[in-house]
Amino acid sequence: DKYVYLFSEGNARMNDLLGRKGANLAEMFSLGLPVPFGFTVTTNACRLYYEDSKKINSKIEKQIDYALLRLEQKTGKEFGNTRNPLFVSVRSGSPVSMPGMMDTILNLGLNDLTVKGLAQNTGNPRFAYDSYRRFIQMFSDIVLQIDHYQFERELDQIKRKAGVEKDSELHIEHLLELIKAYKKLVKKESKEEFPQDPKVQLMMAVGAVFESWNNQRATLYRRINKIEQTLGTAVTVQEMVFGNMGEDSGTGVAFTRNPALGDPELYGEFLWNAQGEDVVSGSRTPGSLNELKTKMPETYEDFKKIAQSLEKHYCSVQDIEFTIEQKKLYLLQTRSAKLTPKASIKIAVHMAQEGLISRDEALLRIDPDTLKGLLHETLDPKTDVNVIAKGLPASPGAATGMIVFDSEEAERLQRTGHEVILVRRDTNPDDIHGMVASVGILTSQGGMTSHAAVVARDMSKPCVVGCSAINLDEAKQEVTIGEKRLKAGDIITLDGSTGRVIIGQVPLIAPTLSDEFMTLLGWAKDRKKMAVLGSVNTPKEAMQARFLGAEGIGLCRTEQMFMDPVRVPLVQEMILSQNKWERKKALDNLLPMQKSDFLEMFRIMEGKDVIIRLLDPPLHEFLPSAETLSIEIERAKLARDFEDVQEKEKLFWRVKGLHELNPSFGHRGCRIGITYPEIYDMQVTAIAEAALELKCKGIEVHPQIIVPLVSHANEMKMVREQVLESLSHVFSRYQDQIEIPIGTFIELPRACITTRQIVQYADFIIFGCNDLTQATFGYSRDDAEGKYLAYYIDYKVLPENPFVSLDEEGVGELIRMGTVSGRESNPRLKVGTCGVQSSEKKSVRFFQRLGLDYLSSVPHLIPIGILSAAQAVI
Ligand code: ADP
Ligand code: MG
Ligand code: MG
Repeated sequence: DKYVYLFSEGNARMNDLLGRKGANLAEMFSLGLPVPFGFTVTTNACRLYYEDSKKINSKIEKQIDYALLRLEQKTGKEFGNTRNPLFVSVRSGSPVSMPGMMDTILNLGLNDLTVKGLAQNTGNPRFAYDSYRRFIQMFSDIVLQIDHYQFERELDQIKRKAGVEKDSELHIEHLLELIKAYKKLVKKESKEEFPQDPKVQLMMAVGAVFESWNNQRATLYRRINKIEQTLGTAVTVQEMVFGNMGEDSGTGVAFTRNPALGDPELYGEFLWNAQGEDVVSGSRTPGSLNELKTKMPETYEDFKKIAQSLEKHYCSVQDIEFTIEQKKLYLLQTRSAKLTPKASIKIAVHMAQEGLISRDEALLRIDPDTLKGLLHETLDPKTDVNVIAKGLPASPGAATGMIVFDSEEAERLQRTGHEVILVRRDTNPDDIHGMVASVGILTSQGGMTSHAAVVARDMSKPCVVGCSAINLDEAKQEVTIGEKRLKAGDIITLDGSTGRVIIGQVPLIAPTLSDEFMTLLGWAKDRKKMAVLGSVNTPKEAMQARFLGAEGIGLCRTEQMFMDPVRVPLVQEMILSQNKWERKKALDNLLPMQKSDFLEMFRIMEGKDVIIRLLDPPLHEFLPSAETLSIEIERAKLARDFEDVQEKEKLFWRVKGLHELNPSFGHRGCRIGITYPEIYDMQVTAIAEAALELKCKGIEVHPQIIVPLVSHANEMKMVREQVLESLSHVFSRYQDQIEIPIGTFIELPRACITTRQIVQYADFIIFGCNDLTQATFGYSRDDAEGKYLAYYIDYKVLPENPFVSLDEEGVGELIRMGTVSGRESNPRLKVGTCGVQSSEKKSVRFFQRLGLDYLSSVPHLIPIGILSAAQAVI
């Protein structure tokens, strides 16, 4: 078995075996790009390492030896050679990106002798000894697991003795002294000398990288991101290039397009005289790529060309690590960039327009779930805000929360229902849980590619980094910004799109959608087969739905219209009426109001279908609760207002009478329509009159009526007859007609089983996924989600929340039965669905497979439904 691959033997498709980093390095090498040579030990070797109880077996070691020999030949350098020593990095890299979660060791191969060779070859002894002391520090931390704090203490001591502030001011004799102190520390802590044999160093480092697969932060990251725990990491061993060799050297990270905004420009950061770790860790804030452009225009242009060719080659935005060693450019890593949702849309659309990818590919590249963030609110630009500091806009969006300084506290507060903003100097992989718990992240150090920035973008959380104006004092649990002092618990707002830090809370407003967003939505509309309609309660929501791309209204609920404070007394009067005649009178008063709602709705949706659901909730929902009433009665009694007492008592007894043990299965839906036909008569009359009046004005309207909660065909038969009768009255009064199809909501299991019979009386059907899920599982949604459902999902009793993603096996099977049998008896039957699941990507795929005609969802989910419906047919 082959466990080690030279860069010349691999390619990008060997991702699973070589890890992303190794596979892409091999690919870049074969493309002829300037990549320091090396080899990769496979993920299989990592798994074997664990099977062999954490030992690298001799077979693997032999292959490493051989690859090392080839590396020496290729570079003309030799491990441990004093004159011409080889130095390598030992890098982790899993098949799935886990940025910064595992360990990498640089400068390996340095020892008491090779350091001299390095000093001589470069003519820069200061650099050589500085590299050596860094190597001891890194190796001891990662491989020997000696607390790095102890090394920092030694460093501080020497600096104090030398009377300097910065590491870079230390002279060679200081560095020599430091190296001695470090080695002594190693001896004391590990009971052994610091390993001098580069081969021994290498094998220890490879083992340590394998071990880092299972460190706490990596394990947690995989759990959060649902990454298989058994994949294992590959280990890449690569010749070192030194970005810290002097002022004509440096290191950088670049994106082929702006990863936050999506603009087509090379975008990145660069640090002179530094090694990669300095940028990634956020310990020094790097400058922009423009510095490189001014100081070394040719190298910059070279790099730019290579970056563009990589983007073309991979057909995706690349995130590239590179180093310049004495003016010479080297590539050290490339990967598909993590993008903000906004950027991924812009880039997908641009790339399709540039012909780099197809429109279908562009549509597939956007995860519908990520659109949610874009449809979210942003800071209202019109309000005056108290900006106290500005940092780098690392991850867009706005967030308001309490200041918190550490991750444990963030978690604790979040658990108790608070929104918190994590404020730190910088973050590191041990802060992941705190970042998960926070609504936003603010750091005083680091750049756009620092840990905090990368992880926040990944989590789609607002983040501001490198905000140097803020001064943290963790001990006092406070932060000062100029004169201003803020304590833990104070409220701030972050604007991740501009980098502003604002005191207090700021009002948020509806988002503006970019041109690219609209373009993508247009492509999705052209591509999809199912229609996407809106589920709305009010004319205002209908307007919103139309704006967001709805092709009609799939569900217009009428009960919200009854909740208007002006109407509530009339509705209550209707409910309290003793007989049919009284009820009719109350309904007559409601009629013009309902009619005006429908007039508005039809106007907004001119030319499009509007499916109106007749009254669905139980009547007691329109009355105050018995508890409230009894308190009010006591009050009225105290005030000796006996008339009021009488009124309230009447209401109280009616409420008692309407009380139901289980309102979800209560006196509601068509059961109301059948027992109080006057109510549906009023609604149907309002619909028909509104439609005819608009028709008369030349406005095109397409009303449809749908009857809720049918379980038996006879219910539908009866309600249909009533509706037809009400319609005929209106038609004859108006001396005019309009076609109004009458459909059925299928939201009870019995209705799914007997759809064949029901559709004899229904022109179309819509599956109500929420209620159908409740009835099929026998769950009451509100109770279930608050109590046992989260547990069920955590412990995998259920694979997913069925109220979010359709339960295909159970509820889906009922929908399938209903659709098939309904269409058997009426081949032209239109079938739709509504509910949260109707815009969820996986469920939408299922609905597409069943061949449904339309989906209906609440306005802000409509774009998500449209994109999901398009993806379902690609
Ligand atoms: P991570 O996955 O955490 O980014 P890397 O393996 O990419 O870890 O390495 C960390 C840093 O060290 C990166 O900035 C990288 O560019 C730099 N680096 C890795 N290998 C070399 C090398 N052979 N020469 C110079 N710098 C290197
Ligand atoms: Mg890297
Ligand atoms: Mg319902």
